[in-house]
Amino acid sequence: MCFGGARFVLIRVLGSAAGGGFPQWNCGCANCRGVRTGAIPATPRTQESVAVSADGDAWFLLNASPEIRQQIEGCPLLHPRGPRQSPIEGVLLTNGDLDHCLGLLSLRESHPLLVYATESVRRGFTDDNVLYRTLQRFPDQVTWRELKLGREEELLRAEGRPSGLRVEPVPVPGKRPVHLEHTGASEAEDSVGFRIREDRTGRVLAYLSGVGGFTPAVRQALDGADCVFFDGTFWSEDELSAQGLGTKRASEMAHWPVGGPGGSLRALAGLRAPRRFFIHVNNTNPILREDSPERAAVREAGWDVARDDLELSL
Ligand SMILES: [Zn+2]
Ligand SMILES: [Zn+2]
Repeated sequence: MCFGGARFVLIRVLGSAAGGGFPQWNCGCANCRGVRTGAIPATPRTQESVAVSADGDAWFLLNASPEIRQQIEGCPLLHPRGPRQSPIEGVLLTNGDLDHCLGLLSLRESHPLLVYATESVRRGFTDDNVLYRTLQRFPDQVTWRELKLGREEELLRAEGRPSGLRVEPVPVPGKRPVHLEHTGASEAEDSVGFRIREDRTGRVLAYLSGVGGFTPAVRQALDGADCVFFDGTFWSEDELSAQGLGTKRASEMAHWPVGGPGGSLRALAGLRAPRRFFIHVNNTNPILREDSPERAAVREAGWDVARDDLELSL
């Protein structure tokens, strides 16, 4: 697809899998085995990250995955346009999980970074983190812009010019990242989704890649959106234990399963957004198999499963 010059919301999926990716290095589940050998109709996926832009010139990353280098190299839109330059003007973090922010440490080649995150996500990444020093090689190497719940924030280009996009962080049921679980109970600011709005057209992208359950705030975030990306981590509550891969249930990991009577697919059946995608899909999820009944159910309900390199404009 060619994005042309008109200002809309341009969206490029860089990675669509949950933490671990698809296949996952230490996983021999039916999906991971099948995609390695080509025995199942499925496409490998890197860990979740999406690039958005209003003009195709200035780009913002939603989450910074551990595979960020490969993801940037695989997307010519994000390649440098000068000897030391990047069209990536900022990075927005949904939470502090390592699959969403570890990529920041990979952007350490002395380039100023603008990061949008809530105060608790910023603290979780910077406090007591000796590795963060690699992003403090010169004053202001990283500028943090605080996202406050319920407040719309303008996404700015490095020189302070408007980018044409605004973001409102929306609280979603979540939990602390695994490495911060010892620091206490979860706060509302630990996990957010984004409502990203384009200035001229008013088009809205609702980006909620990690959602632990249904709340009025989640419903509100989806309301009237032109495009929705939603948590597709697990199909069922006991997906890991049923395959002998772990003991944690989806809800313990703050992910609302897609399938079943209490799942998101059924609860969101009334959603009118013309484009709807599940993203952050765990490698165990049967919707990754293009020939599975679960994938068919998603399709019949008017949803798609996001894949790497998908491009769309609103
Ligand atoms: Zn994740
Ligand atoms: Zn697997």
